[in-house]
Amino acid sequence: MRQTWGVLLTITTTASPATDLGFLLHKHPGRVQEFSQSFGTATVFYPEAGEERCTAALMLEVDPIALVRSRGKGSPDFSLSQYVNDRPYAASSLLAVALGEVFRTARAGRCKARPELPGTALPLELRLPALPCRGGPDLARRLFEPLGWEVEAQALPLDEGFPEWGDSRYVRLTLRGAARLSDALNHLYVLLPVLDDGKHYWIAPDEVDKLIRAGEGWLHGHPERGLITRRYLGRRWALARTALARLAELGDETEEELEPAVAEEAPPGESAADEMAAAEAEADAGASAESQGQAPARPLSLRRREAVLAKLEELGAVSVIDLGCGQGELVAALLARPRFARVAGMDVSSMALTIAARKLRLDRMPDAKRARLTLFQGALTYTDKRLKGYDAAVLMEVVEHVDPPRLAALERVVFGHARPQHVLVTTPNVEYNVRYEFLTGLRHPDHRFEWTRAEFAAWATRVAAEHGYQVAFEPVGDDDPEVGPPTQMGVFTRDQRS
Ligand code: SAH
Repeated sequence: MRQTWGVLLTITTTASPATDLGFLLHKHPGRVQEFSQSFGTATVFYPEAGEERCTAALMLEVDPIALVRSRGKGSPDFSLSQYVNDRPYAASSLLAVALGEVFRTARAGRCKARPELPGTALPLELRLPALPCRGGPDLARRLFEPLGWEVEAQALPLDEGFPEWGDSRYVRLTLRGAARLSDALNHLYVLLPVLDDGKHYWIAPDEVDKLIRAGEGWLHGHPERGLITRRYLGRRWALARTALARLAELGDETEEELEPAVAEEAPPGESAADEMAAAEAEADAGASAESQGQAPARPLSLRRREAVLAKLEELGAVSVIDLGCGQGELVAALLARPRFARVAGMDVSSMALTIAARKLRLDRMPDAKRARLTLFQGALTYTDKRLKGYDAAVLMEVVEHVDPPRLAALERVVFGHARPQHVLVTTPNVEYNVRYEFLTGLRHPDHRFEWTRAEFAAWATRVAAEHGYQVAFEPVGDDDPEVGPPTQMGVFTRDQRS
């Protein structure tokens, strides 16, 4: 028999009922399931599956011969020697590849059997008994803590019998927190290869896409996004540049309203900040070279925020609620303008809210500013009194995250129940996608759909008519003569009589 070696990840929840984990992972708790990979076999099984506590294990058996044979375009390419010399049972980039495939549906946050589950944050504990980690426990903390995880990371000795030999490059990692399972899986999918930092991948241009999609909602705001991007892409600069430019479109940290993040003490050893600065300097240099001296275009996320802010001012809104506020960039910008006397942010993701609170520096916010702000967790598909009483509601890049069968509930909640004077809805214009280099499919894995201009107009017009609103449409970003703008905005205003 050929010698194989294995890697292990366990995912535990104490949600009630804990066996919901099986629905979310699309793997039945009563079965042991095997999935063949180009480099071995992935097995999913449940060491425990009770109502109070349920654990799923992903075990990967790597067959070195298959691994070598599987080399080729699109398959993982890595240096075998590293694995042959390593102790077995190490988690690795291969685990991320297997996790990506075996839990693809869970990672995308889809669950037909229980549609409400993927949006729910669960108490989770993720364990990786031996994780290759260049940068040690400290780097593991720097990567996972900003995402809201409580991190327990311990360097493993080279040899337990000879502690004086020092530590190996392996870490035992435990992550605890409340998160949506799809977020947790995407964190691992991106960060395991980053920690490993071996050049295991065949780095094709679609790796940029994979990174952007798996990083949706958390990577653009991550303090170590430069390091993550560079390492994930195997330090291939052209790709890292593309990725960083696209991340900048998703969220811009440099806007003047967003006060700079608190300077964190530079960690010893490899400086993530240096690495990030270098990556971004390269990205800037590349961008300006490419545009031949022209000023680089402002990121779309910034232009979207500016368009929404300008519209809210034009409408004379004084109180605003941002529904699906994500990491709170718009909330920060609203708070920076005193004319907005009351500002609220709501999101379904507690992880997003944790990051928002950190970025807004809620704990150190002056009382006067703090008094204007409400930040809370909630779902747009459930009637909620807290959504009432604002002049305007904003749904910026949110509707496309809602499953089409749940859209009717969102319409009732926002336009039927909360009923603010104005509702601003922005959403991608799918026609514009052809203008994105390297983009295949939709812009993000969590998007349930992306609308053409005609589809958005049809939806908005119907919703307005049903609920007594008028709607007007405005482009956001460069309005391409052929395919329209990258973002489309609907401005709803309640009829005087209703
Ligand atoms: N408005 C922000 C974030 C957009 S990402 C921005 O423009 O940057 C979409 C956000 O919607 C995510 O933070 C997600 O958690 C949230 N979301 C998705 N479905 C939701 C629902 N049903 N209720 C509330 N928030 C939801």
